[in-house]
Amino acid sequence: MKKLFGIAAMVLGSALAISAQVFKNDDLQISLLEECVWIGETRDNGTLYIIEGNEKALLIDTGTECDSLDKIIRLITQKPLQVVLTHAHHDHDGNIGFFSEIYIHPGDTVLFPKTYRGKVNFVKDGTRFDLGGKSIEVVHMPGHTPGSIILVDRAAGSCYTGDAFGSGQVWLQLKPYSPMKTYIESCNRMIKLMEEGIEKIYCGHYFYVKRPFDLSHMIKMRDLAISIKEGTVVNPQPFDRKVSIGCDNPMIATSGDIGIVYDPEHVNY
Ligand SMILES: [Zn+2]
Ligand SMILES: [Zn+2]
Repeated sequence: MKKLFGIAAMVLGSALAISAQVFKNDDLQISLLEECVWIGETRDNGTLYIIEGNEKALLIDTGTECDSLDKIIRLITQKPLQVVLTHAHHDHDGNIGFFSEIYIHPGDTVLFPKTYRGKVNFVKDGTRFDLGGKSIEVVHMPGHTPGSIILVDRAAGSCYTGDAFGSGQVWLQLKPYSPMKTYIESCNRMIKLMEEGIEKIYCGHYFYVKRPFDLSHMIKMRDLAISIKEGTVVNPQPFDRKVSIGCDNPMIATSGDIGIVYDPEHVNY
């Protein structure tokens, strides 16, 4: 089966030039992103990633409403699969019902769907998924949610960040809130990781950016967050898209192509 898909990828790849698409239905399309890494993009612009090692595979996030996701992943890799969530928002955990166990940070327990009947395993800072020839490390990056994590592949120089640093805009207006200070600390931690060799940030809604973020993106993001915290931010605007789990009067601060949506009542507390 894998061989068949490899051939399909080659044929499709040559037809589409830039996209080595290996699967597509109405809900989801999956393409080769890097060697042994695939990106899945859902109809509603969510993103999931599949990383395959010599012995195991890792699914990072599950997207929303992708029927039979477990069987679809099996078309890509037949290795024993572990499933980890970057955080417990529905657009990332919507398909966990297809999997008998998942990994998540306990900081997001309050957001986690109570309907899930499988086994919940907790990760913490430094937890490693050893896939055989590939080690993927958990780093806790609270802000977007209290339990947001990123998955770091130091050898490949890449990481998978869910919504921890947004996909253009980062949303910090959602309950339960974290103070801006917490988000700034996460940005600084990400900057340090990048100074140590991580070059590519693959975000949780890749559709909106279509490229990995680099160090300059993170520095701009951190500095914008500091200006919000210190009250020196230039010209923040009311953010008009209300989300049911957000605050009543969110604001957005922007700097070039990035934005931070936040609750002015919960910047420093
Ligand atoms: Zn989210
Ligand atoms: Zn999201």
